[in-house]
Amino acid sequence: MKRIAIAGILTECNDFTSALITEADFERVELLRGDQMFERTDGVVGGTLTELAKHAEFVPVPLLFTSTIPGGALTDQCYKTFHDEIIERLKAAGSVDGVLLLLHGAAVSVSVADIEGELLESARKVVGSEIPIMVTLDLHAHITEKMVTLSTALFGWETYPHMDSFTTGARAADLMVRTLNKEVNPVQVMARVPVLTSAINASTERPGPFFDLMKKAKKWEHEGKCLSSSVFLVHPYVDRPEMGSGALFVTDNDPQSAAKMAREIAQEYWDRRQEFEPEVWKAEAAIHDAIKNQTGRSVLTEVADTCGGGSAGDCVAVLRALLDIDVNTKAIYPVVSPNAAAIAIKAGVGSEVNLQVGAEVDKKWGAPVSIKGTVLNVSDGHFTYQGGVWDGASGRMGATAVVRVGGIDIVIATFPTYEWRDEQYLSMGLNPSNYQLIVVKNPMNYFMTYSPIANNFYVIDSPGPTPATCKALTYVQRERPFFPFDSDIPGDTVKLYGAVNQN
Ligand SMILES: [Zn+2]
Repeated sequence: MKRIAIAGILTECNDFTSALITEADFERVELLRGDQMFERTDGVVGGTLTELAKHAEFVPVPLLFTSTIPGGALTDQCYKTFHDEIIERLKAAGSVDGVLLLLHGAAVSVSVADIEGELLESARKVVGSEIPIMVTLDLHAHITEKMVTLSTALFGWETYPHMDSFTTGARAADLMVRTLNKEVNPVQVMARVPVLTSAINASTERPGPFFDLMKKAKKWEHEGKCLSSSVFLVHPYVDRPEMGSGALFVTDNDPQSAAKMAREIAQEYWDRRQEFEPEVWKAEAAIHDAIKNQTGRSVLTEVADTCGGGSAGDCVAVLRALLDIDVNTKAIYPVVSPNAAAIAIKAGVGSEVNLQVGAEVDKKWGAPVSIKGTVLNVSDGHFTYQGGVWDGASGRMGATAVVRVGGIDIVIATFPTYEWRDEQYLSMGLNPSNYQLIVVKNPMNYFMTYSPIANNFYVIDSPGPTPATCKALTYVQRERPFFPFDSDIPGDTVKLYGAVNQN
């Protein structure tokens, strides 16, 4: 019998937002202790458990898994609580043969810059240096040298929009089985380049630079040139040391070829860096263009307020522009504004309300907007995700109201939620097909969701902690020089770490 411990803390942090992540945020979304992890048949937990279940001699030892919607840094107390419980449970589990950690890669706490690296370090102290530790990550992970040197193999999601958390969990579990059966001896090398861009031009499903890089890496993997390949676009809204994007290859005891492949992908990443910077619109210009020049439906994405990237969801720049330009255009808009939601719910469906909307939680990005409208619908804000990392899990907006102002229907939630498709709108009885302008707050999933029903797409440049270009933010910890702050950097920009030394 081989015993495999499984644990994880999965979230993505944003150093430019004000709302810190606490234990309550994890409890609200997903907190599974011990055998409760067996309840998850999908997602990354389901993938690892399903793969291990194929091998009778492998026994999963579930410790603790928790995930939540991105936000600011974890409070140090929150991080310590989950870190300590995982490590205590690992010690209590007794002797194990392997450890699977299901992490994000871009989680930080207020004073710990590399939660994943530190958790690996603590796990290593318990199990020693010989036991394999495999780690699954988002492809928006912030890969530090500590993570590469302390783990046996790191696995990034392969798709963006993220559709493969289950299979990534299965890939990691499969390599764990093969490693412990002594079929392979994994070694890994990461190659990183100083590129910091938003994720807008980084789909793996539509043509573009990231699509090409991922395709090349996966081609080599499918040809058997490596055990695993990952391409990482670092989550650009943490501000910590060792930022950068690039590629990581795991080979069967062949560090030189891992380094060669990782370097080639990272070099191409650097060479194509300009292609990652998006074309953007000011909100007013986009709304005018959509109303006057276009036919059919238009999608405006207020990227700078992406809850899935750690924003509080309470920026209202596009709402302000909509109200100013043409209040009668049929439009739909999402915002997090707990006080406004509470007032609307108290007033009740059919009531007229005067509300201050937005800028309640994170006040750095502009003032709230004053609205006068009618309460159209209220709910407890529960919905079920129809795909993505939380496929099948419930989403919780908390107390939520729809308020109509002219032609604009505003969904006012209490808590931020990740936008996979249009689950939030549908759960409030609103069908996006009924609107001329559909406003969303994400850098990627909007296209997958709305391309069947909309003709025009506008990436909006507005204030917020998840902007379309990183040039809008002031970083303190980032190294210099760095693209796009510095567009030309002389010399070799590729940095290698892991099983080989530089060059
Ligand atoms: Zn991601």
